[in-house]
Amino acid sequence: MTVYLDYNATAPLHGEALAAMTAALTITGNPSSVHGFGRAARAILEDSREAIAALVGAAARDVVFTSGGTEAIALATHGLAESQGPILVSAGEHAAVLAAAGERVELWPLQPDGVVSLDWLADRLQHGPHPALVVLQRANNETGVLQPVAESAALLKPTGCRLVCDAVQAAGKIPLSLAELGADAVILSGHKLGAPAGIGALVLTPEAARTMRPLIVGGGQERGRRGGTPNLVGAAGFGAVAKHFRDPDSRHSLALREALENGIRHIAPHAIIHGESALRLPNTTCVSLPGIPQSRAVMALDLAGIAVSAGSACSSGKMEPSHVLLAMGVPPPTTREAIRVSVGWNTSVAEIEAFLAVWGKLAL
Ligand code: PLP
Repeated sequence: MTVYLDYNATAPLHGEALAAMTAALTITGNPSSVHGFGRAARAILEDSREAIAALVGAAARDVVFTSGGTEAIALATHGLAESQGPILVSAGEHAAVLAAAGERVELWPLQPDGVVSLDWLADRLQHGPHPALVVLQRANNETGVLQPVAESAALLKPTGCRLVCDAVQAAGKIPLSLAELGADAVILSGHKLGAPAGIGALVLTPEAARTMRPLIVGGGQERGRRGGTPNLVGAAGFGAVAKHFRDPDSRHSLALREALENGIRHIAPHAIIHGESALRLPNTTCVSLPGIPQSRAVMALDLAGIAVSAGSACSSGKMEPSHVLLAMGVPPPTTREAIRVSVGWNTSVAEIEAFLAVWGKLAL
């Protein structure tokens, strides 16, 4: 038996993405070519762009295809930040955001439940230097904790400071609207919702789209905002899942998360579910089992054919203490006991039970 409970790292390829990609693979044209082959390719690209725009209620012309979430973050940070001043980002942002902000980074602390404080932001805007840009994720990849993006945007509006929302984990799991978020740009990544890795998008407001500086210049593709022949097959897959998840139904994930967390509480009342009291994604549980290192838990589960992760998936595969949990004030030893279980459309109750059976033995 193999049980995949690591959707936040990457989701399985969705059947609709596979079908759309299989069709796109037979297309020969370059979307920039004016002949019939090119027009056929462009039709696929533009259909996908429409679907991605619709996913967040934006205009198709303001969608820029990228190679994934990381590139979209780099593009937004480079292209939308004012030339001087700190780049204010929540302490729970993905490593891609922290790295893109680089030396200009200023951290917006998390509260113990994992949520940023709006009072802190109001105070910071009144008393500190004008931020060049603010980046705030809609949902955290490790804990699933949701951030008050719209409320933050309302505080930022009078200051003229732009807000970028990393919605990589939120897309397809909870409703998303650029207008309701009040953000200037939203980051999306295909492989978190059933498209392959290597395709993502930056979705902008018309004003941000007009003024953003490109990061990769080249043949003028993507209205001059991202040079390079686009990944047509990836875009086709991304468009298909964007259509499928346009009105996300969280009932399946929520029922599984409830079964999982009820089981955890029953088996080990002393286990700590991080961000438990905050609003969270319906599919994510981050849990520490006191006395059991995450490496041991991940390995024991892997031996039983069950895939979960220790914090975020990173290229080195090393298990560093999570900067997200540390920022929530979780003691370092407890961060090293945290594992993340993230479910999706293919997950069944039987798989949650299989997880609990193995995890429960660790808790004995
Ligand atoms: N932002 C968040 C919140 C993520 O979880 C991830 C991926 O784990 C990224 C950005 C990076 O996306 P990608 O893997 O497409 O570069």
